[in-house]
Amino acid sequence: MYKYIFGPVPSRRLGVSLGVDLVMSKTCNLDCIYCECGSTTKFYNTRDSYIDIDIDRLIGEVEDILQNLTPDYITFSGSGEPTLNKDLGIIIKKVRKIYSGKIAVITNSSLLNNLGVREALEEADLIIPSLDAISEDGFKRINRPIEGLSIKDILDGMTKFLSTTKKEVYLEIFIVEGINDGVEELEKFVEYLKDKKITVIQLNTLARPGAIKEIKPASMKRLSEIKDFFINHGLDSVEIIKKYTSREEFPKYSEKLEKLILNMLAKRKYSIHEMVELLQRNEVELFKYLNILQKEGKVKIVIENDQIYIKS
Ligand code: SF4
Repeated sequence: MYKYIFGPVPSRRLGVSLGVDLVMSKTCNLDCIYCECGSTTKFYNTRDSYIDIDIDRLIGEVEDILQNLTPDYITFSGSGEPTLNKDLGIIIKKVRKIYSGKIAVITNSSLLNNLGVREALEEADLIIPSLDAISEDGFKRINRPIEGLSIKDILDGMTKFLSTTKKEVYLEIFIVEGINDGVEELEKFVEYLKDKKITVIQLNTLARPGAIKEIKPASMKRLSEIKDFFINHGLDSVEIIKKYTSREEFPKYSEKLEKLILNMLAKRKYSIHEMVELLQRNEVELFKYLNILQKEGKVKIVIENDQIYIKS
């Protein structure tokens, strides 16, 4: 059983991605209303080692899985914010020694003002920072930060990062209708992003229940309008992240895992955490299956008492 790695996770933007998780579930300095890992339970804003990382074991796990798998990316992400782990740069360097493919880091951008974080990110090939608001009010509503963290700090850090990085940057904006898609906020995005060096701006939205149940995914129509707004206001490279919606589109779809999931749920409902434990799969991977099965009417993903449950 692997402690630090999960997947491979099929993804449209990264192909087949092997995940590395450097923090405990769920360690973050934000508590985003759309977070697919549920509410933040370990609120920290200082860099530390949040799981007792045995770097040799982590590298051993990566080495082991690479014997049977050639991922398109090894991606540092998972159950919280990876830049909170102070060993990120060292670990990327060590992975690089045993893996010749590409390395990505998905970050919430909150620590970009920290030089050590920017240096660690430079060890990767691709950085996927998120930025969901430019106004302080929008930031507080959507990202619900730890006390003392302001959007001004994040924008300062982002500006430094974007002006110095030599790596590819896919900037992700998570759209929640009624919160960060108003004209005023969109104009602020344009104003901030217009002279920045970014490979592509990616618009994302909810694929499954977030940390609070009232929020709804933005429609494809709304995402397209926002994309057009950005392009018409001078931002050149903007795209919408499309999700896998059928098993045919999903590389390495496991019929066996699908059967296991359906058999489990035929007996009773399970929380997502129970399913992760029992099936020994990361929740990001499980949700790829659950979203498809939900679309086909075979399972239901619901929120009860602040917990995500799956039932048939
Ligand atoms: S930054 Fe990522 S892990 Fe942290 S709360 Fe937001 S979505 Fe969840």
